Amino acid sequence: RETTGARELPGEPANRRFHLVQAAPVARNIGAEARGLITSGEGTYVVDENGRQLIDGPAGMWCINVGHRNEILANVMRDQAMALTYSTPWYTSNEPAETLAEMLSARAPGDLRHVFFTTGGSSAVETAIRLMQFYNNVRGKPQKKLLISRQGSYHGSTHLTASLNGRPRDHDWMDGVDLVRKLSSPSVFHGAQGLSVEAFEDHLVDEFRRLIEQEGADRIGAFIAEPIQASGGVLVSPANYLKRMHALCRQNDILYISDEVVTAFGRLGHIFASEDVFGIQPDMITFAKGVTSGYFPLGGVMVSARIFDELRKSDHPNATFVHGLTYSSHPIGCAVAIRNIELLEDGLLEHAREVSPYFQHRLKTLEDLPLVGEVRGMGLMAGVECVADPSAKNPLNLDLAVGKRIDFHCQQKGLLVRPLINMCVMSPPLIITRTQIDTMVAV
Ligand code: PLP
Repeated sequence: RETTGARELPGEPANRRFHLVQAAPVARNIGAEARGLITSGEGTYVVDENGRQLIDGPAGMWCINVGHRNEILANVMRDQAMALTYSTPWYTSNEPAETLAEMLSARAPGDLRHVFFTTGGSSAVETAIRLMQFYNNVRGKPQKKLLISRQGSYHGSTHLTASLNGRPRDHDWMDGVDLVRKLSSPSVFHGAQGLSVEAFEDHLVDEFRRLIEQEGADRIGAFIAEPIQASGGVLVSPANYLKRMHALCRQNDILYISDEVVTAFGRLGHIFASEDVFGIQPDMITFAKGVTSGYFPLGGVMVSARIFDELRKSDHPNATFVHGLTYSSHPIGCAVAIRNIELLEDGLLEHAREVSPYFQHRLKTLEDLPLVGEVRGMGLMAGVECVADPSAKNPLNLDLAVGKRIDFHCQQKGLLVRPLINMCVMSPPLIITRTQIDTMVAV
């Protein structure tokens, strides 16, 4: 916590200063902003260093789906550690990984039968992109590599995944790779600008069509999209937008990667949301977070059998997908994921589906406050966006620290929210009750 010897980057507002510690007398967890220490958790709550009990509004970081301190999951982790702590994913497999692969394959949409396990969301997205590149190389289309993402998106913090991100602050002071083209965010609130929702949807689809014509379908490898742009501020797209974008991908032989790192494993009431909620069968689905309810770092990519079979048919004898992470298929992560899915299917998904309309409806009442421009969301994810001018619903010119001030206020009153500049995001554990929702809204 010492910042002696720290250097400040010029031009950053005080609340966003990032200290590069050159010679600090004590260790510092770079990246953790001064929000206090969280010392324990139980169910929907966490406790901070001052002993204050807080509702965990963001469920950690969209991940503690079954809630904190779940004894069943803790015991599974212990038992697995005692049975087999680790086996290399390069030359061997392990029982939990095999069982989990079967479970996911049975629950994923369409022909997404295969899975590659990773250590989290960024490594899942990286894996999906490398698979696309390998796929196009072995089928003789080495020029088909461009990546299409969207403004407002978040896909990770590695070099490539951050390059896909569409939030400007992910690119401030950083360099990205030059393989990415970005479409507009499908956020109706920010983008429709007087158009009807239907006309805005047409505009977004046309934009994609024009980009394909301009770049050439034979140069575009993949389109990647979160079903709901989560860290961009819970940006919900027009009703048929994803289906129409998916259809354009199919027509143009562009792989559709659905980034379900946030939306899978119950946040929208289903194990995977792509088909059950949005009616699409992507070519790949990336997942992480809720797969273990955040109890162990695990992620993965579901891959279509069509793609997988084509890779295996390759007539290049040396075409090998050389890709692996030390902790891919980690037995403890896979064991906890299996039990977590069982818990989700043993009533939690149903509870999430049942309580979601209440959560959305109660939060929506915050729109009566002059500071609030829009409350939006789906399932158990919601964003409350503050505006400078309520009549114009204009988010510009707002004191950008407003999210932090709201965050501070909420913490004093027993609620953790996720402050995102002028928004606060809420995505509580799926075990949230109506009474706890009432408390969140009241705070
Ligand atoms: N994709 C989405 C949609 C995310 O929200 C996130 C993280 O928030 C990631 C990818 C990156 O996941 P991770 O932080 O596990 O690397």
